[in-house]
Amino acid sequence: MKVTFYGVRGSTPCNGSEIERYGGNTSCVGLDVPGNDPIVFDLGTGLRYFGMKQPSDGSFRGHALLTHLHWDHTQGLPFFAPILCAGAEFDVYGPPQEDGRSIGEILAATIRPPLFPIELERFPGRMRFHDVSDTDFTIGADVAVKARLIPHVGPTCGYRVTWNGRSVAYLSDHQMPYDGSMAASQGALELIDGCDLLIHDSQYLVSEFATKSTWGHCTAEFAVWLAAEAGAKRLALYHHDPTRGDDAVDDMLRAITLEGQRLGVEVFAASEGLTIDL
Ligand SMILES: [Zn+2]
Ligand SMILES: [Zn+2]
Repeated sequence: MKVTFYGVRGSTPCNGSEIERYGGNTSCVGLDVPGNDPIVFDLGTGLRYFGMKQPSDGSFRGHALLTHLHWDHTQGLPFFAPILCAGAEFDVYGPPQEDGRSIGEILAATIRPPLFPIELERFPGRMRFHDVSDTDFTIGADVAVKARLIPHVGPTCGYRVTWNGRSVAYLSDHQMPYDGSMAASQGALELIDGCDLLIHDSQYLVSEFATKSTWGHCTAEFAVWLAAEAGAKRLALYHHDPTRGDDAVDDMLRAITLEGQRLGVEVFAASEGLTIDL
């Protein structure tokens, strides 16, 4: 199973020489699972680049595990070339709103004039939406998926994908305790439990969290604590703050690598274009 990062940025896409090594596209990670259709975590602006590697002749079949509906996780969808072709099929899984509205309803209500030139239902490819919350299900022949609601702002899932004994957990946006302490929900621990790779929110420095403690995210220190607590083997720092230049990501990584060595977790910082072979 191969994991490729197409967008690693949180909140909003960004551009400039100061972020060119890690990249400026928002959340999107591709999973290439032998014998199965491709899977993506999230539909941020990185999805456009994932789409460039897929067939655009109507033969595309794929699945998306959407964590939640914030812009940085959905803005790539209207620019995903494969679904602009008749015959393509795209299944999207994600959590419904607290009032019962499904991800399909909300996306259809926002991808339409005047916010976008055409309605989502007029896209030539076929999209199917599936509500998941605390749900275990199978994709394709033999890909096991575990979805669990995790703390963020609004209904948000984390996911764990397991194939052939290898597993990757994806918790892109994860609120740590407001008081800065280290504790996690049962659902988050279940997703990460002993996984080969954890891709986790690391949006804030401790100093930033002090003023943004209710914004739905966590520190890199929390990410490495959680990885160790749940027995993850490797941790990818992810959802980089748009203000975090490459050198500042390097600084964050250096500090967390030391903490990871102390706790027995290998740490790296996710960058656009990087592929990890599990
Ligand atoms: Zn986000
Ligand atoms: Zn969010």
